[in-house]
Amino acid sequence: MYENHRTLQLFTPWLLLLALFVAACAYPADTVTTTVLIGNSRIDVATEQGALHASKEDLMKWVQWSAEAVAGYYGRFPVPHTSLRIIPTTGAGVRGGRTWGDRGSHISIHVGADTTWSDFADDWMLTHEMIHLAFPDVADNHHWIEEGISVYVEPFARVRARHMDVNQMWFEVVRDMPKGLPGPGDQGLDHTHTWGRTYWGGALFCLLADIEIHQKTENKKGLQDALRGILDAGGNIQQDWELEKALSVGDQATGVAVLVPLYEKMKDQPHPVDLPTIWAQLGIERQGDKIRFLDSAPEAKIREAITWGSSQTQAPTSTAPKSSALENLTIFAGRTTR
Ligand SMILES: [Zn+2]
Repeated sequence: MYENHRTLQLFTPWLLLLALFVAACAYPADTVTTTVLIGNSRIDVATEQGALHASKEDLMKWVQWSAEAVAGYYGRFPVPHTSLRIIPTTGAGVRGGRTWGDRGSHISIHVGADTTWSDFADDWMLTHEMIHLAFPDVADNHHWIEEGISVYVEPFARVRARHMDVNQMWFEVVRDMPKGLPGPGDQGLDHTHTWGRTYWGGALFCLLADIEIHQKTENKKGLQDALRGILDAGGNIQQDWELEKALSVGDQATGVAVLVPLYEKMKDQPHPVDLPTIWAQLGIERQGDKIRFLDSAPEAKIREAITWGSSQTQAPTSTAPKSSALENLTIFAGRTTR
């Protein structure tokens, strides 16, 4: 059914009504289909039958917010077209997202019947899934890089889109990053497929890379530039790449060798990391349930650049969410009838 819907983009405007009818017929009866446009990309949203108390406007605003955050970080939405399937479930909140690169890329995500706008506004999961679109498909033993990028980039993308508080973000990063540290018997990221090493071990790789790129470029570039370089070279989720290729394309984009050498250090050995020293260098101090930033710390400027983006790569949406660079539009395509 995704195949049928995807052909929609080939239709000329005067066939729009017919196209929308075909799109609607591609989904089960009572499925609501809506298209969200973000820049030059389109997201075809299919909401499956089931109880959802949230309004369609809130649902689509959530999709748009998530897409905007990702597009702001990468400079554009990662793929020209994707399908998003929203599956109503019980309870409140967003859960159970998955992203695939086949059939033109598609995402499925569960939304609880009692989910409110404030749940959508706090949601990280759809942003996480959309970030998966921006990296090539790599071999299973490198799954940590796919999850690590999504875990690491998601809060920065949301902070820059002003969808998340910066203090809250750093509080959570400092709280959660130790989950990615190697435990006893660890054999490196390519060989230790635990939850912690996959999600947070991958995020730890990203943090170390981000800091080192900033250090080596006089704070002019960061991981964001490497990830944009990989995407610009065609490395989205629809492509199968060797991990080494993706990392070296990323290094070429920043002009400094960081990703490949760091991978060599972390792929098949524990590579312990002293996180308290890193936070002290960056000027991030955790006091109970609060976070404090120390601008006198040696790498306080790197912390700022990591948080908000280097000046050279800052997307227009970072400072002005309503700027013209990413004009968005939601088209309500209608509801099928029995
Ligand atoms: Zn994921």
